Amino acid sequence: MKIGTKGKKIIAKVGLELMKVNFIMEHFFKWGEKEILKKLVVKNERNRPVGAQEEKYYIVTNLMRAFEKKIKENSLAPSVKSWVFNKLIGDVLLNWAERYPEAARRRKLETALPIFMTISPTQTCNLACTGCYAASSKKTAVTLDWDVLDRVVLQKRDLWGSHFTVISGGEPLLYESKGKTIFDLYEKHNDNFFLMYTNGTLIDKTVAKRLADLGNVAPAISVEGFEEETDARRGKGVYKKIVEAIENLKEAGVLYGISFTATRKNVDKILDDDFVDEFFGEKGAAFAWMFQYMPIGRGPDFDLMITPEQRRNLWFQERHLIKDKGIFFIDFWNGGPISDGCIAAGRKGGYLYMDWHGNMMPCVFIPYSVGNIKTDFFDKGKTLDDVLETPFFKNIRKWQDNYSYKKSSLDIGNEIVPCPIRDHHSEFNKIARESDALPVGETAKRSFKDEKFINDLTEIGKKAAEATEDLWKNEYHKIEDPSKVDIS
Ligand code: SF4
Repeated sequence: MKIGTKGKKIIAKVGLELMKVNFIMEHFFKWGEKEILKKLVVKNERNRPVGAQEEKYYIVTNLMRAFEKKIKENSLAPSVKSWVFNKLIGDVLLNWAERYPEAARRRKLETALPIFMTISPTQTCNLACTGCYAASSKKTAVTLDWDVLDRVVLQKRDLWGSHFTVISGGEPLLYESKGKTIFDLYEKHNDNFFLMYTNGTLIDKTVAKRLADLGNVAPAISVEGFEEETDARRGKGVYKKIVEAIENLKEAGVLYGISFTATRKNVDKILDDDFVDEFFGEKGAAFAWMFQYMPIGRGPDFDLMITPEQRRNLWFQERHLIKDKGIFFIDFWNGGPISDGCIAAGRKGGYLYMDWHGNMMPCVFIPYSVGNIKTDFFDKGKTLDDVLETPFFKNIRKWQDNYSYKKSSLDIGNEIVPCPIRDHHSEFNKIARESDALPVGETAKRSFKDEKFINDLTEIGKKAAEATEDLWKNEYHKIEDPSKVDIS
């Protein structure tokens, strides 16, 4: 029997009611975990290294458990739960293929079909953190026109069936264009879920309540460790404001997480158990994203990049957080095995980036553009699909395919170092030159042709690969009979 759209909505509504009964909810989540284990580890249809499949399983189920815990504690605003069951399950997941038949067809093929976009709608920020890629003075800060922002979010949904948008900065809460703020975006596109990177300092009780009422936004607050480390990078008094913001979010019932940047100076402390226990225990964070400092943006500094040895040590601590502590934790680089390598340039299941000018780039960490979405694409009758078809995007995807994405089993390149620009820089530089990519910002313009920059970054990448090669070979390619995986 075929269940129609109305029927699916009713199922989601009934599901939401049933979730109020703890016993049923526990069984539902247990059943979900088993299904995920079967799909990822036992079936493993793309024949990826079994260790990588296991990590994916941990990551997905850790997020589910964090959500389950919040429901049990009754600490989420009704609108958040309602969004997950009515919008995400009812509207998006159950009806996806019917609503977006073209995207469903493309998803089956091995073509570019990103599942999300990261957008920085404004360069404006009330802080000036060391090494920030937004890198502007207040006077020169640029903001994206509302009509462009609105059109992009609509178009990615209609063309790709994408319902997930990451909003980055500057500080998104300062976005203003044509009388609209970032809340107008969240409200208008309430079939999208938004992850919003924010410095947290502007989340007072009113902002927290607005986010709770919306239900489709999860802030990721930037911290650098405890007070000393956070204030050292972000400015004096910032940590105290973050702690207040977290209290406000908790009180309002908003699902939130943290994000941080590992540098050579803080990396040995940033993931220690005290820090993690504080934020994931007492403070109630549900997820964490970690970025390793990149020498782009304001004042690039190679001495802030973590060393290859630190990167290796980080891998062990990250596995401890994911497997022993059950935390949804993703390192944008070391987490490569979880995403089947680099996800940039609109790869299938991946993403692309648009900045405050409307420059279209393969990734937040690749400051090279293929043009402006308004003047080079929309005004010429082109769409987001045409961005994916530019030589630069295509050549990056080709690199990804050859490095790991389309390789099978033992041939797959080391995905702990998956990044073309950071870990394989001379190859990246060649692709950028051959594809006529346009460097964005002074640092990229300088480094594009700076032999020393290119050689130094390439060397760091090589050493990081050497430092992690044994982990990739031994920890991910365990030869195991999948039928013996315990799914009881
Ligand atoms: S380019 Fe690098 S940072 Fe960007 S998605 Fe790929 S691996 Fe990650």
